[in-house]
Amino acid sequence: MSGPRDRLEDERRRTTARLATLRGDYRGFVDASRDTNADDEHDPEGATIAFEREQVAALVRQAEQHLTEVEAALTRLDAGTYGRCSRCGRPIPDERLEVRPTATTCVVCA
Ligand SMILES: [Zn+2]
Repeated sequence: MSGPRDRLEDERRRTTARLATLRGDYRGFVDASRDTNADDEHDPEGATIAFEREQVAALVRQAEQHLTEVEAALTRLDAGTYGRCSRCGRPIPDERLEVRPTATTCVVCA
């Protein structure tokens, strides 16, 4: 049985690793774009690379957003406000925090 800090630090580790991989992929696509006319929509290969690059960029943004939420949750943990609904102030059930360690509201307020 691991506590919320273990869960959050694990989540931060995994998200940071994922972000590093995604940023590496993104750089790969940027480099590939340079070799082809990636932004030229008449170049089929370039258009594919540009599309995939955008997909990866979206994933990078998602991972960054998630990391921000995880950091915020760790800050709340330090402040002693973690696991409390930010709207009604009631405790957020453990089952919910296990599924979503970054939750800031209880199920009722979500
Ligand atoms: Zn609530």
